[in-house]
Amino acid sequence: DGEDLREMLSIAVGEDVSADYVSMMREDLEAIQPDPRGLNWRHEPAPEKLAAFPVVIIGAGMSGVCAGIRLKEAGIPFTIIEKNSAVGGSWYENFYPGCGVDTPNHFYSYSFFLNHDWSHFFAKRDELWSYFEDATDRYAIRDHIQFETEVVSADYDDASATWTVTTLTGDGRTEQLSAKSVISAVGVLNRPKLPDIPGRDTFAGVALHTAQWDASLDLSGKKVVMIGTGASGQQVGPTIAPDVAQLTILQRSPHWVVPNPNYFAEVSDGMKWALAHIPSFARWYRFQLFWAFADGLHASLQVDPTWDDGGKSISQINARHRLYMERYLRAKLGEDTPLIEKVTPSYPPYGKRILIDNNWFDMLQRPNVELVTDQIAQIVPEGVVMADGRTIEADVLIYATGFQASKMLAPMKITGKQGRDLHQFWGPDDATAYLGTMVPEFPNFFILMGPNTGLAHGGNVIFITECQVRLILACLQEVLEGDAKAIDVRHKAHDDYVAEVDALHANMVWTHKGLTNWYRNDAGRVFALLPYRLVDYWKMTKDFRREDFLLS
Ligand code: NAP
Repeated sequence: DGEDLREMLSIAVGEDVSADYVSMMREDLEAIQPDPRGLNWRHEPAPEKLAAFPVVIIGAGMSGVCAGIRLKEAGIPFTIIEKNSAVGGSWYENFYPGCGVDTPNHFYSYSFFLNHDWSHFFAKRDELWSYFEDATDRYAIRDHIQFETEVVSADYDDASATWTVTTLTGDGRTEQLSAKSVISAVGVLNRPKLPDIPGRDTFAGVALHTAQWDASLDLSGKKVVMIGTGASGQQVGPTIAPDVAQLTILQRSPHWVVPNPNYFAEVSDGMKWALAHIPSFARWYRFQLFWAFADGLHASLQVDPTWDDGGKSISQINARHRLYMERYLRAKLGEDTPLIEKVTPSYPPYGKRILIDNNWFDMLQRPNVELVTDQIAQIVPEGVVMADGRTIEADVLIYATGFQASKMLAPMKITGKQGRDLHQFWGPDDATAYLGTMVPEFPNFFILMGPNTGLAHGGNVIFITECQVRLILACLQEVLEGDAKAIDVRHKAHDDYVAEVDALHANMVWTHKGLTNWYRNDAGRVFALLPYRLVDYWKMTKDFRREDFLLS
């Protein structure tokens, strides 16, 4: 019963787990068929009605593939428009040295397509990309994908409740598709951000962004300068350091880094066997990872207003995390006090995306690696000039400088009811959406991995995507089982949701004074991250609140 299950969950993670998790775990364990996370018709619409309701999904990355799989199961016709020549999105585009996931794969995978054969607990890019390729074929959605085509705009016509989606094909043709619903699955980390440093274009060597890597680039024996020490830099640096002549890392601010004993480990044959054969073992293991990489950390993100240690942490539990991470980096760096000072963040743990140690501290102690924390003054043909006048020569300049995350859904132009422009509604960098998925006056338009759906403390965006797809399916079900043509979220529901999200963020680590991160816009509002526990978001997207919507 529920209490037994709660106790078992608590024992599984070695902490007290609240009753909130029982229903979610029960859904996983009971493996009910048909899957409650898919669309289960109450009154299955006539085939003609379904056929007259084509959906366009924009993007065949992790979230677009997920949406396609679920629409296919439901019998709803759909086309996926993908700008690349393959599926996988970020996992297709990013192949910089060391590229891989830092959320364990037995959690970072679709709940309906578990893989018991991951070679490592944290797979590298090729294996991840293959996983999404496999899912595409296993669920037979490849024929629905139009590759090498980019969506330029989507416009809604009130009278016919129809979206016109304009695309640009690889060979330069403009085409139009008619759809009853549009699902944006373009992600947030797909437009590289190059830093605004004077002289950037004058560099005479090879300059490239991590997300636009050149597979033919040979770094051996080269003098390399890397700007940026986030999740991408953390993976590139230690991977290339043994090959290059000199690696100079330009760090603007340090990130907190945690060790993970499984980070480089292969999954043993025994573990693979257990995952495949012991009933429910894979689900229980998944819950352990869910806890350790997501909800179990949620308390350490909350500000205790009575806590004051000069801004180094935000609560007692957060301070304990800080102590653990500080001890770890000190143990790694020994007596090197100047280096310890350089890599110890002044801000609380989790203020920026937490990183898993990819031999970062070992790399920093290599004779051919230097960590420079001075300000960059300009880029010149020979390399980078620092504020103190020193020129760091480079053959190759790597920008590990992140993405234009705040420009959500750009550069597409989306117009809803009465020509309402989505980007005008949002302004330059203030994207909002009900449950991160729906914007008022954009009927039958849904956003996957939209505003306030990201995770920075760990987490798993595939989990979020599956929750969003469930909400979208519930919306489409309302339309297709009834007489309505379209579903829209009410302004009040959207505004109340955004107000709650903002209020929660005001008491979370991301808004800590003096802290910079890519989760906030110019006005300081957290537009990128989810403030809730994953179990809360699971429940909010599962329990369809009819009163929040308008059917027309
Ligand atoms: P990021 O986290 O935004 O880091 C960008 C880095 O570049 C930061 O160190 C930043 O410094 C620095 N930077 C930016 N502009 C600069 C400038 N003008 N001068 C000097 N330094 C500058 O980007 P990312 O590492 O590509 O990661 C982005 C997100 O992608 C992550 O948060 C994560 O969600 C995802 N990701 C995940 C994985 C994974 O799962 N393994 C791998 C890669 C990326 P400041 O910190 O001072 O701004």
